[in-house]
Amino acid sequence: MVNVISLARSFGKLVPVGKEVLEKGGHKLFFLPEDYIPLDENKIITLLKKFDIEAIVVGAEKITPDILDTLGPHKIVAKHGAGLDNIDIKYATKGNIVVTFTPEANVQAVAELTIGLIFSIARKIPMAYSSMKNGDWKCFMGKEVYRKTIGIIGTGKIGRVVLQKLSGMGVAILVYDIVVSKEISSLPNVRYVDLEELFTCSDFVTIHVPLTKDTHRMIGEKEFKLMKPSSFLINTSRGGVVDETILFKFLSLNKIAGAAIDVWENEPPKSISAKLAKLENVIPTPHIGAYTEEAIYRMGYQCAMSIVDFFDGKRPEYLANPDVWKNLGY
Ligand code: NAD
Repeated sequence: MVNVISLARSFGKLVPVGKEVLEKGGHKLFFLPEDYIPLDENKIITLLKKFDIEAIVVGAEKITPDILDTLGPHKIVAKHGAGLDNIDIKYATKGNIVVTFTPEANVQAVAELTIGLIFSIARKIPMAYSSMKNGDWKCFMGKEVYRKTIGIIGTGKIGRVVLQKLSGMGVAILVYDIVVSKEISSLPNVRYVDLEELFTCSDFVTIHVPLTKDTHRMIGEKEFKLMKPSSFLINTSRGGVVDETILFKFLSLNKIAGAAIDVWENEPPKSISAKLAKLENVIPTPHIGAYTEEAIYRMGYQCAMSIVDFFDGKRPEYLANPDVWKNLGY
C-alpha cells in the first residue's frame, strides 16, 4: 500500500473512478487540504513529507526539481491530463522518477470545445447571451464559417480530430506542423503550408501545439501582422504559445477581429492575461478543454491505473519518460 496525493482539482472528486481504482489497488488517496490552496512549491513539499507520499497526481501545478527530490527515486508522478509542460521531465528522468500522462483521454473533449469556440466567436453567441440576460434585445452581426479558410497549427492528436470534425463543413483547411503527415496531406481541401501563408490566408487560426521552448510565444507580432483584420484566433493549447501582450494590442486596436481563449499564460489569469480576458472581442473560458464527464472519467481511470500498474511492477500504458522504466530494471 502506498500513499498517493492528488493535487489535481478534479481527480477522484468530480468523477470518483480514480479514487475507486486506487483503493481497489490497495492504495490510499489524500486530497489537497483546503487551507493549502493556492498551492506553491513549499506547500507541496510539506504535504509530501507530512503524508509520506510515494505517488503524486498532478493537474496544472508546477512540479519542480525540489519537489521531485522530496518525492525521491523509484516513485511516480502521474499527470491527470496531456500537456507535460508543468513537469520537469528531464530532472525526473535523472532522478529515476516515472512520469505518466493521459494523452488520448481528452482529445475529443478539446476538439469539440475548439469547434464550439470557432462558431461562438463567429456568431458572437456568448455576447448575445450576456446581452439578453441583461434585458437587452440587440442585433449581433456574425460571420459564417462555411466557405472560410481554417488554419490549424499542430496536426497531432487534437489538431487532426479538429480537422476531421471540420471536413464536411465546406471549409478549406491549411495546416502547419514540424512533422508532415502523409495521411493528412492526401486529404481533399487540406494543404500543409508555412506559418506565413497560414496566418495570411486563414479566417480562423486554431492552435494545437504543446508548450515547449520552441513553441513558447511562437505566435507574436510577426504572425498577428499577417492576419486579416476580419480573422479570429482560437487557442485551446497553452497560453504560453501566444505572446499575450502583443495579442492584447492587436485585439484592442481591432487589428484582428476576435479571439476565443481557453488557456492562459497565468492561470487563473492575472496581469496581461486578465486584461485580455476582459476585452469585448474575446471569449474567455477557464481552461475547460478537458472538462467533460467522459474525458475526466478516462483521465481519472488511466491516471489511477498508471499508479496501480507501477507499484504492481507492470509497465504503465502511457509513460512520458520510458527510459526510467528501463533503468528501474523491469
Ligand atoms: P500531440 O503531441 O498529439 O500533438 C502536438 C503536435 O504539435 C504534433 O503533431 C507536433 O509535431 C506538433 N508540434 C510540436 N512542436 C511544434 C512546433 N515547434 N511547431 C509546429 N508543430 C509542432 O498533442 P495533442 O494531444 O494534440 O495536444 C496538443 C496540446 O493541447 C497539448 O500539448 C496541450 O498543451 C493542449 N491541451 C489542452 C487541453 C485543454 O484543456 N485546453 C487539454 C489537452 C491538451
